[in-house]
Amino acid sequence: MKSKKMKLTPQTLYQTLLENFGKQNWWPMDKSYHKKNDSDPRFETIVGAILTQNTAWLNVEKALDNLKSENIMDIKKISDVDIKLLQKMIKPSGFFNQKAKRLKNIASHLHNNYQDDLDCFFNRDLYEIREELLSLNGIGPETADSILLYAGGMPIFVVDAYTKRICKRLPLNTNISYDEIQQYFENSIYKNYSKKETVQIYNELHALIVELAKNYCKKKPECSKCPLQKHCMFKKQLSK
Ligand code: SF4
Repeated sequence: MKSKKMKLTPQTLYQTLLENFGKQNWWPMDKSYHKKNDSDPRFETIVGAILTQNTAWLNVEKALDNLKSENIMDIKKISDVDIKLLQKMIKPSGFFNQKAKRLKNIASHLHNNYQDDLDCFFNRDLYEIREELLSLNGIGPETADSILLYAGGMPIFVVDAYTKRICKRLPLNTNISYDEIQQYFENSIYKNYSKKETVQIYNELHALIVELAKNYCKKKPECSKCPLQKHCMFKKQLSK
């Protein structure tokens, strides 16, 4: 008798990747720094979400360390700091002129409209906050959703170029627009779990997809050890 093949869905993708890679514990933040300085660690996540645009996380870490060693990882301090100094400190993350403006812009927005209070900022309707973030210069859907999920703990799935790549290759969803992929994942997961569980799954699943794409599903994929190979049409085409 033939064994029944498990259908790949966002949920089974999550389970398979979690079993193979384990918990990724995103988003990394330096809790001891914030405890010592009485600052809000969620702002570090916001800063990281902007600095990681078009760059590898290792470079972002260097920029974050510079901001912390200058003791300015704080909404008001970034809003007030001289832009030249800010550019110098975030230089390792690349595109530093652009990113310095974006950081000052969001910090000023949070300072002027929410008096540096991230509870006040996040304690509103998810889509209202999303629209507001998207209206800020240099914040697109991926950055906005990373801020909402990882800083705000809100149930929204982050789509990035890696997610688009694996969706196209497996395939999981033939549509590859940001909104369609996001809806596809959310429709599959949200209805089956509580809000708290959903946030945890979105948090882990995005990180697991990044892990998959960095180690196996690269531009030139390395399928022989990939935990998804039995599901993957792209792999089947490659082996023909
Ligand atoms: S089997 Fe290959 S192409 Fe398919 S998801 Fe894995 S690494 Fe990517």
